[in-house]
Amino acid sequence: MNNTVILTDVSFEIDSDQLIKKLHIPNQEGHIEKFKELVNCARPVARPKAMYKICYIESRGDNTVTIDGIRLTSRILRVNLDEIHRVFPFVATCGRELAEWSKSFDDILEQFWADAIMKEAVHIAFDICKEHIETHLQTGQTSFMEPGSLEDWPTGEQKALFKLLGNPLEAIGVELTDSCLMVPIKSLSGIRFPTEVNFENCQLCPRENCSGRRAAYDPILLKSKYK
Ligand code: SF4
Repeated sequence: MNNTVILTDVSFEIDSDQLIKKLHIPNQEGHIEKFKELVNCARPVARPKAMYKICYIESRGDNTVTIDGIRLTSRILRVNLDEIHRVFPFVATCGRELAEWSKSFDDILEQFWADAIMKEAVHIAFDICKEHIETHLQTGQTSFMEPGSLEDWPTGEQKALFKLLGNPLEAIGVELTDSCLMVPIKSLSGIRFPTEVNFENCQLCPRENCSGRRAAYDPILLKSKYK
């Protein structure tokens, strides 16, 4: 059975008006028109993509979980996967096409906008990947964890994750540098898993003023569930 799913036909449906609001682009000096033009240039270029693998848990230690022969070290991941046998390592990316396109701008404002467009692209690929897993594999609700978001599962674990995924470079053009950064940089990787209780890394992350926060910090959760 082929246990790798590659999603390359992801349509880049981006809502310029919503993004204008999100980025607080002012209605002055033709900024809105310029931004819309930039989005229109990005549309035919963008090829967001994602891949995931269907994997099985083989064994567990106190702070480790071994999946398809690859050991991952994280107490929080281990606890989150306690009752589960099947998991889905994934990578989603804005795509090399858009990353190359973004390098063509010298103007700082245009670079910032191009960056925001790439972020939208990776989130589109991420959402499609989630939906594909939940619909095609009938998992019910899923959550995910990504290496590097919490001290407990550091960025260095990307190496094990990429080993588990096989060849993301060949599949969707995402590679891992020696310092564990993904190229294109607007890529997201992690492990998605079925869960009855929604989990967000942010629940265990005390960082203040984070614009990406998806859930409130819960200082009691770490001690009550994961210690
Ligand atoms: S609060 Fe921000 S830094 Fe912390 S896990 Fe959430 S998104 Fe990441």
